[in-house]
Amino acid sequence: MPHREAELMILDSEQHRISNLSRRHFVAALTTASVMPLVAMEAREESLISPGSERGVLDLDHSSHAKLKTIPIGALEIRNGFWASRRTTNTAVSLPTMHDQMEHHGRFDNYRRWDGKRQAYRNDFHSNNPPGLRQGADSEVYKWLEAIAFALQSNTSPELKTTADRAISIVLGAQEPSGYLDTYFVGDKIDERMLPTTQMTGHEIYCLGHLLMAGIAYYRATGDRALLNAGIRFFDKFLIPQYGPGASQKPLLSGHPGSEMALVELYRTTSDRRYLDLAAYLLKGDERIPLERSGSVHYAHIPFTSTYMFSGIPFTSRTKLAGHAVRALYACCGAADYYLETGDPEYRKALDTLWQDLVTHKMYVTGAVGVLNGEEAFGDPYELPNERAYAESCASIGNMMWNWRLLCASGETRFADTMERVLYNGVNSGMSLDGESYCYRNPLSFDPASGTPSRKEWWNVNCCPPNLERTFASLPGYFYSTSEDGIWVHLYDNSTLNWQLTNGNGVTITQKTNYPWDGDVELTIVTAQPTEFTLYVRIPGWSKFTKANVKGAPVDDVRPATYLPIHRRWSGTETVSLHFDMTPQILAATGRVESDARRVAIQRGPLVYCMEQIDQEPAAAMDAYSIDLNGVATDRIKATYEPSLLGGVTVLRAPGQVDERTPTSSDQLYRSIEVSPARSKSATLTLIPYYAWANREPCAMQVWIPYVRRDRV
Ligand SMILES: [Zn+2]
Repeated sequence: MPHREAELMILDSEQHRISNLSRRHFVAALTTASVMPLVAMEAREESLISPGSERGVLDLDHSSHAKLKTIPIGALEIRNGFWASRRTTNTAVSLPTMHDQMEHHGRFDNYRRWDGKRQAYRNDFHSNNPPGLRQGADSEVYKWLEAIAFALQSNTSPELKTTADRAISIVLGAQEPSGYLDTYFVGDKIDERMLPTTQMTGHEIYCLGHLLMAGIAYYRATGDRALLNAGIRFFDKFLIPQYGPGASQKPLLSGHPGSEMALVELYRTTSDRRYLDLAAYLLKGDERIPLERSGSVHYAHIPFTSTYMFSGIPFTSRTKLAGHAVRALYACCGAADYYLETGDPEYRKALDTLWQDLVTHKMYVTGAVGVLNGEEAFGDPYELPNERAYAESCASIGNMMWNWRLLCASGETRFADTMERVLYNGVNSGMSLDGESYCYRNPLSFDPASGTPSRKEWWNVNCCPPNLERTFASLPGYFYSTSEDGIWVHLYDNSTLNWQLTNGNGVTITQKTNYPWDGDVELTIVTAQPTEFTLYVRIPGWSKFTKANVKGAPVDDVRPATYLPIHRRWSGTETVSLHFDMTPQILAATGRVESDARRVAIQRGPLVYCMEQIDQEPAAAMDAYSIDLNGVATDRIKATYEPSLLGGVTVLRAPGQVDERTPTSSDQLYRSIEVSPARSKSATLTLIPYYAWANREPCAMQVWIPYVRRDRV
């Protein structure tokens, strides 16, 4: 029996109990079996979902512990500015090319293999011919679909709907009558399905979490529930009847957290409490799974402990961020979502403790996290190596999503500041300016001699590219929030918000700005009827001196890292002007960060800067340059907007020097520098925004720059 037929027979006998059928009959039977029970399901699913489709990144309308509510993505138009070009590239280039990449690399074939329409070739993780099947690969398709859904919510690229609809039909074709849907654990892998070891390493419910998020976003964009229903079927028909805390249920482990936040969002979408309860169960862990006692499962040499997976023990017992960075941050997102629904103080306490651990010990200045230590994991406190930063794009996105949820819970600027830091730097660096290649790692120092590629069009584990695409597509949802008494402004860019207050009065807020290249923002608020509310305007923590004017009158006591409340009876057209302090800032890390010792980083506005070797004159090895901090250093750093460079960036030029003794290249590990006197000459260092690195020919890069100064920083 050919291998392909053998796979089908396993399916026949073990999964669907259909025997002695030809392949054609099998497909027909599968199709019939798929459709018949779902007729009844469809009716029930319809009744579960509240009317009205479009919501924000999250739907917090009924989340009783969300201080801030989200705005629909379609309520904000971003145009002619920093993010508009990024988002246009995302929809015009990144999403279509990612479709082609996924087709080429077998991601859609993984589904076609099981819908009977195509004899797609089966592969495994380590094969390159073609590399289609891999545990967790389905999630890449779902993230890409979620990105399209967000783009459709902005109504910017309706033509993407045809592409998405075609992909969704391919996905749906592979769902089994049981509700199960995962393109890896099928055929000869069925026996591994949902095994305890598979729950740790196999990404089954992680993928289904992404299926749900894509389905919810697509439903909100189009009203089409087909993809969402597929996710609901998986949980309702396959998972919940068999797995959970009940005595008759088998235990379930969230080996790669992610489904928790999806389940909470499904609860918000359907009002079905079972999904929230399942999220809580996963966040708590099941004592019947003896993770540590049984000895760790190893996969790819990594011990799958509860620490590494950031699951399996009560989330509320955690006090440190540890283990796989994306897993940990996605778990934090799920826990924050659970808090937003329940207000459980134990969760709030754990989330606050973990956030403090993040910002005081484990986050790079770019907002990225994770160390290249073989496990894609958090390091020890202050272990923040620059060249060996792991700083995965997905981890930065997880950090952004977590801070967004904490901001929604609290309305505190510390979360908005962290969200902005990671968005503009650690996330934004992940996609090339042309939208066709991506960083998996986002190190803070780079040497092309390492042989490590910085950007690629496709990664074998291609989690980051579609994750970046969905983040840029969903960006309008992060700009504003609403609360009972007003509207909150979190992010700045040329944009218009069209909103309706709870009293029914319409309001538009238009931002006019050249942010982040300069610090002037003008907000024009137009109300259809005179309306009293508070406009909460975020004053970033990095802006030490901010000026604010309301209708031309200056506002006193504008403090950094606050939301400036502007309460008034808004009438007609009124303006609020802001001027943020864009003076370049010279940052030093605590001396405990060994990698940053005797070095500084430069930040201007929300942007962290870096040196790329290609810009430096005279040409020298990267370690030959120092920045000169004598005098009033920030006054000596000059900012120039250069429209033709890197899509238009503000370049910083700083006084410095170059050590002429440093060889441009050398095979010597050590060399004596005592035999000759120091020979340094003045040089002007050129810095570009970190997000724009690795968009020209490969060259050395550094964020943290050695400095010379007569006194110590
Ligand atoms: Zn990733």
